[in-house]
Amino acid sequence: MIDRDEILEVLSGYDTDDLSIATLGSHTALHILKGAKEEGFRAVAVCEEGRTTPYERLDVADEIIVVESFEDMVSDDVQERLRELNALVVPHGSFVAYVGLDRIENEFAVPILGNRFLLRWESERSKERELLERAGLKVPKVFDSPDDIDRPVMVKFPGARGGRGYFICSSPEEFEEKARKMIEAGHITEDDLETAHIEEYVVGTNFCVQYFRSLMEDTVEVLGMDRRYETNIDGLVRMPARDQLEAGLEPSYVISGNIPVVVRESLLVQLFEMGDRLVEASEEIHEPGFIGPFCLQTICTEDLEFYVFEISGRIDGGTNVMFLPYAYLKFGEVVTMGRRIAMELRVAVDRGEVDKLVT
Ligand code: AMP
Repeated sequence: MIDRDEILEVLSGYDTDDLSIATLGSHTALHILKGAKEEGFRAVAVCEEGRTTPYERLDVADEIIVVESFEDMVSDDVQERLRELNALVVPHGSFVAYVGLDRIENEFAVPILGNRFLLRWESERSKERELLERAGLKVPKVFDSPDDIDRPVMVKFPGARGGRGYFICSSPEEFEEKARKMIEAGHITEDDLETAHIEEYVVGTNFCVQYFRSLMEDTVEVLGMDRRYETNIDGLVRMPARDQLEAGLEPSYVISGNIPVVVRESLLVQLFEMGDRLVEASEEIHEPGFIGPFCLQTICTEDLEFYVFEISGRIDGGTNVMFLPYAYLKFGEVVTMGRRIAMELRVAVDRGEVDKLVT
């Protein structure tokens, strides 16, 4: 496991007047890179062969390092080049998924702008739940066995397939019936059933709240929010109920985009408090807790209570809606999450405190 001292050692060899912000060319790289440039840092994208187009055509990167496959981000050559560029790496969902937690924790000796030790806590369901429970946030009830299902539940499966094979059911019998259908359709396997995560289906509205924890300003900011645009469910629900029944299609919840949304103003008090509590819990788990962006994926019920069904302990894909309304209120200009990260780094550079933001 790479410890913080090793990273601080690497950082001590950096010229902090000539820093780069680097990230893997996927997920939220566009505004991370753009924000870096806006705040006067060199913007470096590590792209997989064949996936450079958006970064080239939108002109967001100063340098593009092309690798055969994303996991080559941890190769000696790429790490060496990143250190030469005085690069700090912003971790995001694709970085975690493609590079893998083990490699990030054990092999990636480049400073990460964020808390690398908390990435496992957002990625593994049991750890994620422990973090949420420590923070005292409301979470959907989890069912250990399909036999216990006594209300509408969502059945989820782990891994890179995203929301494919997810289904909703309300009884043990319906679980069996739908699981069979999903297996027959090839969406899941018999083995998947063993790892199925069965969670109360919370009926309400979806808000994914984009937070920024600033160590420089000692604040937790709510900057924006989105809701998910998922295929095929968002198309399925546009069919009249009768046609849905006749079509006999299986739903999937594969994320394909994000839609900006704002919350009723009176609910913001709750959301700020929830962010504060999660940050406190994250501090208990690994000092200094979350560094920079994080996200709570919530459902707001008709009683106006928020249930958190997932978190991101790093920049979340929903920040791609780009315009974050509360960031506008706070800063008086357009501040994307990428730019907010770079603004924080700028303050840290000016104060000689870059070490506080890296792990
Ligand atoms: P996930 O893969 O956990 O992000 O779930 C995919 C989608 O299913 C989310 O974007 C939500 O719209 C919905 N969802 C997930 N968990 C729940 C839940 N417990 N109750 C209601 N909807 C949920």
